[in-house]
Amino acid sequence: MLKSETRQANWRRANPLKYSAHLAVQQAVSSGKLKKECCEVCGSEAVDAHHDRYDEPLNVRWLCRRHHVKLHHYGEDMFPVNCAPAKARSAEK
Ligand SMILES: [Zn+2]
Ligand SMILES: [Zn+2]
Repeated sequence: MLKSETRQANWRRANPLKYSAHLAVQQAVSSGKLKKECCEVCGSEAVDAHHDRYDEPLNVRWLCRRHHVKLHHYGEDMFPVNCAPAKARSAEK
């Protein structure tokens, strides 16, 4: 069985551009250069950065795990572009 660390290392080797884009986002967020926003679909505050283009590492969209996965699976036609108020949704789990 592969250890998850090994998997991550493999992933990094296979996706150097993605990896560096993610690092750039993490650094920009922790230095305050980039601000995390709520999910553009449902307003959740637990978000991932989604890259439309990995060669623009700080040009990201914020999506919760659920909608991030959906975007990758189904594409974006289904998404209205708006940012619902996070508070109203945060009770919903
Ligand atoms: Zn969402
Ligand atoms: Zn993504």
